[in-house]
Amino acid sequence: MDFTLSEEHMQVQKMVRDFTRKEIAPVIKEADRVQSMPAGVLERMGELGILGICLPVKYGGQGYDYITLGLVCEELEAMDTSLRVAMSVHVGLNSMALLQWGTEEQKQKFLKPQAQGKKFGMFGLTEPGVGSDVANMASTARRDGDDYVINGEKMWISLASKAHHILWVARTNPERPDPHDQLSAFVVETDRPGVTRGDIHGKLGVRAGSTGWVNCSDVRVPASHRLGEEGEGFKIAMSGLDNGRYTVGSGAVGLIRASLEASVKYAGERKAFGREIGKHQLVQQKISRMVRDYEYGRLMMLKVGWMKNQGLRNTRETSLLKWFATDASFDAANEAIQIHGAYGYSDEYDVERYLRNARGAIIYEGTSEIHQLMQAGYALGYRQDGELRCELPKYDPVAWQG
Ligand SMILES: Cc1cc2nc3c(=O)[nH]c(=O)nc-3n(C[C@H](O)[C@H](O)[C@H](O)COP(=O)(O)OP(=O)(O)OC[C@H]3O[C@@H](n4cnc5c(N)ncnc54)[C@H](O)[C@@H]3O)c2cc1C
Repeated sequence: MDFTLSEEHMQVQKMVRDFTRKEIAPVIKEADRVQSMPAGVLERMGELGILGICLPVKYGGQGYDYITLGLVCEELEAMDTSLRVAMSVHVGLNSMALLQWGTEEQKQKFLKPQAQGKKFGMFGLTEPGVGSDVANMASTARRDGDDYVINGEKMWISLASKAHHILWVARTNPERPDPHDQLSAFVVETDRPGVTRGDIHGKLGVRAGSTGWVNCSDVRVPASHRLGEEGEGFKIAMSGLDNGRYTVGSGAVGLIRASLEASVKYAGERKAFGREIGKHQLVQQKISRMVRDYEYGRLMMLKVGWMKNQGLRNTRETSLLKWFATDASFDAANEAIQIHGAYGYSDEYDVERYLRNARGAIIYEGTSEIHQLMQAGYALGYRQDGELRCELPKYDPVAWQG
C-alpha cells in the first residue's frame, strides 16, 4: 500500500486551495448571509477545470483520477460546503453517471460541455413526498412516439436555479411487479417548454448554495435523452449515489480539518485561568478527537478513491465513508464552537457556519439511518451488490489524458 500523493495530486490540491483562499474567503460570509452563491463562482470553477477534474480529456475533462476528485472536495469544503455541494451534483451525481451509463452521443452532447464547465448539471431524485423511499416516487415519463412526456416535481434539488441539465428519474413501467424496475433516467435541459424551477430560502446551512425545486409539466424529451435502458433508472440513481456520496464524505473530511485548524488557532490565542486554553485537558480532548476523525476519514476517502481507480465496486465502503465523515464533521464543528466559547456562537468566526453546513450532509445522499441500515445489511448478509450492466470505468491514465 502506498499512501503517497503524486505531484499531480498535490498540484491540483494547491490550485484549489489558492482559489478558495484568494477568491472565496473574502466573499463567503456575505454570500452565506444573503443566501446566494457568490457571483460567477460556478463559471470560475469551470474555467479552472474543477468541474471536469476526474473526467477524460476527450470528454472535455482534466483527465485526473478519482482520488483527485476526493482531494478537490476536501479542499472546497474546508472553505465552504456550498462549493463541494456543486461538485457533488455536477460531477458526482450527474457527469459521472453520464460517463458510466451514457452512449457516445450522450457523452458528446451532455457530458462534454459539463466537463468543460460551459453547462452545469444537477440530479433530480427527491420529490415533495418521497426522499429515502425512492422507488415510491410520483414523477412519470410516458412514451409518445419518438419522445417521452415527463410530469412531476423534484424538491430539495442542489443547483436548481443554476443548472442547464437535470438527470431526472421518473416512472416509465408501472406494469412491472418490482417498483425498482419501473424507473428510468432522462437528461432534461432546463430550457425545455414546461420546465419551471426556483430556489428555496431559509435553509439552516449551505446558504451560499442554490437548493430548490424543479417542475416538469408535459415536458417532451426525445427518447435519445433516456440514460440507460427503460427500467434502469433506480440502478443509475444508486450508482450515481456511489459517486455523490464519495464527494460528500471527502468534503466532510475537509470540514473536520477546517474545524480542527480553527480550534487549534483559537486554543493557542485565548487564555483562561492564567494559561492558554489549549493547555486545559478537556480542550485537548476535543482537539484530539478532531485529529482522530480527520485521519480516519481521510484514510477511508483514499481507500474509496483507490477502489474507484481500480474499477472495484465500492457501495459499502462509500456508504461507510459518507456516514462516518458527515457525523464526525458535525461533531467537530460543534466542538469547535465549544472551544471558541461565546465567540463561536457568533458569525465573527467561521465555526458557526461550519456547524450549520455540516448538518445537511447527515440528511442528503442517504440519511445516517439509511447508511446504518446498509451497513447492518451487509454485515448480516441481507444485502449484496448485484452486477451492473455498466460499471464506473476504471481510471486509465493513458485513456483519460489521451
Ligand atoms: C441541502 C440539501 C440538498 C439536497 N440536494 C438534493 C439533490 O441535489 N437531489 C436530490 O434528489 N435530493 C437532494 N436532497 C434531498 C435529500 O437527498 C433527501 O432529503 C434525503 O434523501 C432524505 O429524504 P427526506 O428528506 O424526504 O426524508 P425521509 O425519507 O422522509 O426521512 C425522514 C426521516 O425518516 C427516517 N427514515 C426513513 N426511512 C427510514 C427507515 N427505513 N428506517 C429508519 N429511518 C428511516 C430518515 O432517516 C429521516 O430521519 C437535498 C437535501 C438537502 C437538505
